[in-house]
Amino acid sequence: MNERYFGLQDESGRFVRIGVAENSNQASQFEQAGFIEIAKELFDRLKEFVEQVPFLELGALILALDFLRQLRTPRPLRMALSQLPINRRGLFLQQVAFKERMNNLAVQLSRGDITLDEWAGTMQEEIRQHTLQGRVLAVGKKNLDANDLLEVQRDTEEQLMYFENWRSELAVDYGKEDFEGFDAKALARRGRLYANANRKGFEISITQKIGLPRLPVYPTQRSDCGSLCGCHWAIFPIEPRLGHYDCYWGLGDAASCDQCDTRYNVWNPLKVRYGKIMPYYNTPLLYSDGWSISDDNSILFGPDSGAVPVK
Ligand SMILES: [Zn+2]
Ligand SMILES: [Zn+2]
Repeated sequence: MNERYFGLQDESGRFVRIGVAENSNQASQFEQAGFIEIAKELFDRLKEFVEQVPFLELGALILALDFLRQLRTPRPLRMALSQLPINRRGLFLQQVAFKERMNNLAVQLSRGDITLDEWAGTMQEEIRQHTLQGRVLAVGKKNLDANDLLEVQRDTEEQLMYFENWRSELAVDYGKEDFEGFDAKALARRGRLYANANRKGFEISITQKIGLPRLPVYPTQRSDCGSLCGCHWAIFPIEPRLGHYDCYWGLGDAASCDQCDTRYNVWNPLKVRYGKIMPYYNTPLLYSDGWSISDDNSILFGPDSGAVPVK
């Protein structure tokens, strides 16, 4: 069977639908309706993406269309750091706005203005949009590529998995006969934890776009502060054509944890030369995987294997 794949945009340039035709009769209907023919691989990606993100203002659907446009105009794989918009201010504002909406949603659910299902549906949508917008703010809408979209999808799925756990916890209480309503503050507090969930993707996308190797860890990963981590990788091109960069762990405004402090000291900078990460003091204190250090900094305590003197 010779299937052909199509996508449709609306008059304001939004990607609104994709479809598959099994024969030329079916295909001509798509063509007459203004669909653009696309590759199967692209169709599969977009399909998941579009289904995941329903039609919303400035939503993923616009991005899907831009993505299509980009495929027609290939661009170099590696970008200069200066070509990326890296909108940290936007990321901050976006997180503030997100937290505000989390608060509002929590109040609505606790008051019974919306049902648990309605709340969950909106939350899922919020999480999807939020993940995507983090990428957009990091690399710019016009620079998003297939890889970005796949990673956004993966990140979104990961977050939605966490959310699903939360939702089912709430559903247990909700179903009880003596249920007296949710605590708005507790709901809001937990909802706000998702605000920073797009930071990791934000940071990863920057390093990827300029052709840096995967850095040892990204903000919010393997640290006590977790999703509250406000740190970032500050990247300085030394000789980008040769793959030389200096990468500093920039501490966030929020109180930082032991791992973030260690990273700040160790990766000061983390040197990348010829596209490779140069050796650094690889102490387990960089990660929150059960290690700690004595007050006088002389002994490391491992998660299960006792103590190790610091050399
Ligand atoms: Zn941090
Ligand atoms: Zn931290």
